[in-house]
Amino acid sequence: MLVSTLREAPGDAAIISHKLMFRAGLIRKLSNGLFAYLPMGLRVKRKVEQIVREEMNAIGAQEFLLPVVVPGEVWKESGRWTTMGDGMLKVKNRLGQDLVVSPTAEEAITSVIRDELFSYKQLPIVAYQIQTKFRDEIRPRYGVMRGREFTMKDAYSFHGDDKSLDEVYANFARAYRNVFRRCGLTVIPVSADSGAFGGSGSEEFMIESEIGDNTLILCKKCGYAANDEKAGCASDIALDKDGNPQKPTTLPIEKVACAGVETIVQMEEFFKMPASQFIKVLIYRVENSEIDFSSAPGGKSFKKDGNVYPEVFVAVAIRGDLDVNEAKLAALLKASAAELADEENVIKYSGAPHGFVGPVGLTNVPLIVDFSVMEKTDDGFKINVHDTVTGGGVADFDNIHVEPGRDFVPFLTGDIRTVKAGDICPNCGEPFFTKKGNELGHIFKLGTKYAKALKAKFLDENGKEQTPTMGCYGIGIDRTVASIIEENNDENGIIWPMSVAPFSVAVVPIKGEQDSLALAEELYGDLQKRGIEVLLDDRNERPGVKFKDLDLMGIPLRVVISDKTLPDAEVRMRKTGEVEKIPLKEVADFVESTVRSQMESYK
Ligand code: ATP
Ligand code: MG
Repeated sequence: MLVSTLREAPGDAAIISHKLMFRAGLIRKLSNGLFAYLPMGLRVKRKVEQIVREEMNAIGAQEFLLPVVVPGEVWKESGRWTTMGDGMLKVKNRLGQDLVVSPTAEEAITSVIRDELFSYKQLPIVAYQIQTKFRDEIRPRYGVMRGREFTMKDAYSFHGDDKSLDEVYANFARAYRNVFRRCGLTVIPVSADSGAFGGSGSEEFMIESEIGDNTLILCKKCGYAANDEKAGCASDIALDKDGNPQKPTTLPIEKVACAGVETIVQMEEFFKMPASQFIKVLIYRVENSEIDFSSAPGGKSFKKDGNVYPEVFVAVAIRGDLDVNEAKLAALLKASAAELADEENVIKYSGAPHGFVGPVGLTNVPLIVDFSVMEKTDDGFKINVHDTVTGGGVADFDNIHVEPGRDFVPFLTGDIRTVKAGDICPNCGEPFFTKKGNELGHIFKLGTKYAKALKAKFLDENGKEQTPTMGCYGIGIDRTVASIIEENNDENGIIWPMSVAPFSVAVVPIKGEQDSLALAEELYGDLQKRGIEVLLDDRNERPGVKFKDLDLMGIPLRVVISDKTLPDAEVRMRKTGEVEKIPLKEVADFVESTVRSQMESYK
């Protein structure tokens, strides 16, 4: 066996799992985001895959295997050929045909299933695979946590009705909890749905991590848990500087010359008011919106392409102390993306440069307003901030005494702010706290989007043609392996949970008067016969070197046979450091029962 332990981690390894995967000889780097698994690493990866496979089979999912390289054709059918962006690797073969290196497989599976599906009697169909994916990530980092090539368990379900989808979705939610528990991980399931509590349309399985890419918004009172990309909050009412709710003003708008006062901080100084008294207005470029803008200011000039506007510009107003969440804005506008407009378009649509855009007198763009400013109600507006300061709508001027509702009315209002710690839970009114997390898995109700686009159909009980509704469900295998290390290590190395350890036990003979190697080989053979995964460290190294390596590799049990231990063997637990002397004859029994009982605890 190739044992490739290192004393030092490579310089680019910033997190513990990345360092330990290199040092323990689990992986090597071929290029940025491209890793080779060495035998020790592959054994762990296969263990995780097997746990996932067992839990998938247990909920009646069936294993498929799709090719990694798929025809561009199916991606053109779904429309994602153009919308996936540069993350998707496209190639042309010698015949000039377009091919895609799969970043995910909704298209491929739907194109397979549509040829097999005829009748409602076949439904539901639940397919999964454990297969290579490629995403040309902009910033691959933290080793296999975010690679370019990685292994994903991806699953797809097809249903005759929503009830069936709900059932299978719930099965996946349960299976995912089992998978992570069996891997020795503590996950936080969060809603990845915009909107209501328990949002049942999409859930992400997060693991708490200092280097997490996601901010989790959590409520300790009612258990609300959401990704901050999607988290909602109760709208609050801005207070004046004495802590009282603000009052409407009867004063007319007044223009104030304020050249050079552009940022919120500069405004706070200049006007001697808190940022919560300002309304900032930003111009956004929005892609593929399904909202009907025809009656909005400027809306008539937008070009519609079928049901969507490929590109529209909107003005977004929000309280000065808050930030716009682009994902929530895009969701509100039923759009695929929203990003800040460039300066040229800011001036074109608002008449003022960035920093002086205001909500009053906008005739060229629809105005979208966050709930922090006002909410549309059945009979008008609920105003949440009064007597405000805003951009003046021309360079170098601001407006004071601006009253929402009186001085401007929005085309649309919504909750589009970035929720932070301290904001108010929409369910129970408790202030939120936050944690950083990494996404290990994701379950998602897709609806009929892909089935419709790829023309998958079936005949229902009445012989009527219907489109199946779908769900999709992913787990990152490599990211799971790395996360297990993040949660299970000490200064000496990895501490594998028994369920995923590359070997359960290492037998280490130490040279001396007695033939410890022969005794070790005998024990090794005995354990193998019992089905225990055992490593025999018969390297010609000093004991200290062997012990260090085995600790680094995280093998749960170590059995030492030497002149000092005989007629006993010394058994040591990696996790606790506990040492027991066991008569050599009984060691196999002891090891087998320890391994089996620890395995059992992860069932
Ligand atoms: P992220 O937000 O981290 O980029 P994602 O939301 O794009 O992930 P999904 O499309 O939901 O990921 O994929 C399912 C799972 O695949 C993720 O939960 C994650 O565990 C894994 N995964 C995604 N991208 C990578 C990557 N670049 N490297 C390793 N694992 C990944
Ligand atoms: Mg995801």
